[in-house]
Amino acid sequence: MSSETVDYRPLWEKLGLDLAAHDLLLAAIPTLYADAYLSQENRPAGMAYFDFVMSEIHGLRIKELLDHKAAGGTVIGTFCLYVPEEIIRALGGIAVGLCAGAEWAYDEVERLLPANTCALIKSFLGFKIGKVCPYVESADLVIGETTCDGKKKAYELLGELAPVYVMELPQMKREADRAFWRLEIDRLVEKLQMVTGRELTEANLRRAIVEVNAKRRALQRLNACRKATPVPISGKDALLATQVAFYDDVPRFTEMVNRIADELEDRVQSGHGVASPDALRVLVTGSPMSIPNWKLHDIIEKAGAVVVAEELCTGSRYYDQLVPEGGETVEAMLDHIAARYLDLNCACFTPNPGRLEDVLRLAREYDADGIIHYALQFCAPYQIEATTVQRAAQEAGIPLLRVDTDYSRGDVGQLQTRVEAFLEMLA
Ligand code: SF4
Ligand code: SF4
Repeated sequence: MSSETVDYRPLWEKLGLDLAAHDLLLAAIPTLYADAYLSQENRPAGMAYFDFVMSEIHGLRIKELLDHKAAGGTVIGTFCLYVPEEIIRALGGIAVGLCAGAEWAYDEVERLLPANTCALIKSFLGFKIGKVCPYVESADLVIGETTCDGKKKAYELLGELAPVYVMELPQMKREADRAFWRLEIDRLVEKLQMVTGRELTEANLRRAIVEVNAKRRALQRLNACRKATPVPISGKDALLATQVAFYDDVPRFTEMVNRIADELEDRVQSGHGVASPDALRVLVTGSPMSIPNWKLHDIIEKAGAVVVAEELCTGSRYYDQLVPEGGETVEAMLDHIAARYLDLNCACFTPNPGRLEDVLRLAREYDADGIIHYALQFCAPYQIEATTVQRAAQEAGIPLLRVDTDYSRGDVGQLQTRVEAFLEMLA
């Protein structure tokens, strides 16, 4: 990929974006990015790829998506980890994550939704209503899911503005739920075959499983390096890599992340870090953080600590588990996919002991001095589950700070004070 100035306005116009509003959005991102990212010292050289990706977030990647569609492919928007990317990819689709991490068109959104709806839902609806997201405008189909109530109902409204298909996700993990989910995967295949005009075969599904696993393995390698002291990459940079995984080209992303992992492994060998060996190590767990939501990581790291792991959908939940590659038939491969996805531990499940185990395991493996539980305001699943996570951390003797926030900058000062006090307590 090379950087050159290209005028993407005709392309945005073709997609029906509100160009004036879109200009405002695009103008805000570089400032946020420069402040959070480019101000860091000693970043791995490989992060230049992500600087480029961010500079082209609504440019080159959108052109690639439209070229893909022009060549007969499809673009499928998703909002949740439970939607299997492998199936979309096998059918010639490109999966793009549509969760948004910035406040947009809230006035209009709050005419449709209660003001006390989580920021993620308000944001994705705001991006669609405000016509500022070229990803959602490129999508041939948007796949929703029955996870939390807010999302479930918001998809009904989104369905008035875009083609939406909703998967029914069970909220428990009993045998009957697994059987139901397996059928739901079949229904998704049927829908996607119709939308893409392609058929799922052993060859295309096997290839997609291998490619998506390779992407997750690359992220596993990168993140494993964060176990080292000193830490070779900041939490902010690692978070960005996972955020970009939701919409970048799969083989290119895999190659670039593996290159960064090579660099980090060298750094670990030579004891080269981005923070001092004494820096406090923090595990972050909770609601997802979508681009450009880097608020909490930025506050933690500007306070001198380092985020060493994320038990988030934009973190370990995304890359920890792979789909077994040994399936012989389409049915067997879909069995593996169904099992792998239902094994994810989102707070919308009840009970959800797997998440507590994951949080404690990660805290141990990454040698965390403390945990910060991050929930978006009005995200009932994570705000309520924070209580059980806090109890589990307490029993394990790991200090935990609970933070409930949103996408606004209004509480940054207050969060800084709370995070600094927490870090002082850990020191
Ligand atoms: S937090 Fe749960 S509902 Fe939200 S994206 Fe993650 S898995 Fe899906
Ligand atoms: S952050 Fe919480 S409330 Fe918001 S969409 Fe995700 S699970 Fe639902």
